[in-house]
Amino acid sequence: MDFVTEEEKTEDYLFKIVLVGDSAVGKSNLLARFARDEFYPNSKSTIGVEFQTQKVHLDGKEIKAQIWDTAGQERFRAVTSAYYRGAVGALLVYDISRRQTFDSIGRWLNELQTHSDMNVVTILVGNKSDLRDAREVSIAEGKSLAEAQGLFFMETSALDSSNVAAAFQTVVKEIYNILSKKVM
Ligand code: GDP
Ligand code: MG
Repeated sequence: MDFVTEEEKTEDYLFKIVLVGDSAVGKSNLLARFARDEFYPNSKSTIGVEFQTQKVHLDGKEIKAQIWDTAGQERFRAVTSAYYRGAVGALLVYDISRRQTFDSIGRWLNELQTHSDMNVVTILVGNKSDLRDAREVSIAEGKSLAEAQGLFFMETSALDSSNVAAAFQTVVKEIYNILSKKVM
């Protein structure tokens, strides 16, 4: 029936996706780049929204990615459990020019797994790939950590836009795939 087809077309999905990682790795700028195509060269941790919804089209369906930003909470090394609640996807972000932020990933992953009530589709993101001369973490190290933890992996740059949409879309696509397998 035509009517049923119409219904299917307008079916909506809403995925909560959280940004996690140390302060100043570029979480807010990744979201600004993806959702608004903007970049803030001197952003303060207070800049940012609680969450922003971005539409992604997949398989003829419209998916709303509701992307949450910590907006500075992480400075105190604690993000509230409410932040993680209901999340189905996560971007675990470090800065390739600051090894310390890569060393923190294990702790963030642990926090994510502790607070989330389901298996969260997670991508490890090495941001600031434009800072070639200041690199402290190699691509191989990022890849190998991701493989060991069963995560997707990508290096991005919120500054030059490289891989930003791809990183978010990888997560959305995988959540959608898992979901449609369950339904069928
Ligand atoms: P957050 O604390 O994780 O939200 O980090 P921000 O998004 O506020 O970014 C912290 C700083 O890093 C800001 O000065 C940004 O301009 C800068 N920054 C963010 N992403 C990139 C990037 O991809 N490349 C470069 N070179 N700088 C970036
Ligand atoms: Mg921020």
